Amino acid sequence: MSVHIEAYHRIKDQLEQSNVTLVAVSKTKPLEDIQTLYALGQRNFGENYVQELVDKHTALPSDIQWHFIGHLQSNKVKYIAPFVHLIHGVDSEKLLAEINKQAHKHNRQIPCLLQVHIASEQTKFGFDTQSLQEFITSERRSQYKNVVIQGLMGMASFTENTALIEKEFSTLKSIYDQTASIINNTHFNTLSMGMSGDYTIAIEKGSTLVRIGSLLFGARN
Ligand SMILES: *Cc1c(COP(=O)(O)O)cnc(C)c1O
Repeated sequence: MSVHIEAYHRIKDQLEQSNVTLVAVSKTKPLEDIQTLYALGQRNFGENYVQELVDKHTALPSDIQWHFIGHLQSNKVKYIAPFVHLIHGVDSEKLLAEINKQAHKHNRQIPCLLQVHIASEQTKFGFDTQSLQEFITSERRSQYKNVVIQGLMGMASFTENTALIEKEFSTLKSIYDQTASIINNTHFNTLSMGMSGDYTIAIEKGSTLVRIGSLLFGARN
């Protein structure tokens, strides 16, 4: 029994009060752990690795909503295109174009979040503010008819410095509000920010969806 059921209920209660969606991040964790939360009513799960996501999708109930939250390579989009519920880490137009192409093949629209680089670390992927702005305001955006730009996603710096995290999440929230006013579409309604270590701050700063792994499933190896 490695699933933290009490933490799950506590977090659910906390999120319900602010109308925030919980994505349970189950990467590297066994099917049984997912089934444990599934039995408690959890339906949104997040994975980082394409092959692992495909295997879990095949093995588990079909009403699970699978979120791809990792860095997605263009040549792997085809494997998740038939079923993925939301792709969080869209960090380039090239990737968006490939998602659009694969979604078209499957005769569907795939909801996507554009990832914005807000952290001070260089290793985190994402659009910078300027390239995001350029893309959002461009005519090109309308040619991607098989993707739905549903919002933004970002990761704060991995740090104990609460003030820095607050600042980064506030920045993302204001980019989100600005982008929402440009896109001006009811589908644009999701701000994915907050993980085990910083989700409380993220909610204060206006997150609508948190991605929580280790608090629910324990530390990963
Ligand atoms: C692994 C991961 C999470 C969950 O991290 P925890 O700290 O275990 O909650 C959230 N978002 C992304 C993008 C991740 O890769």
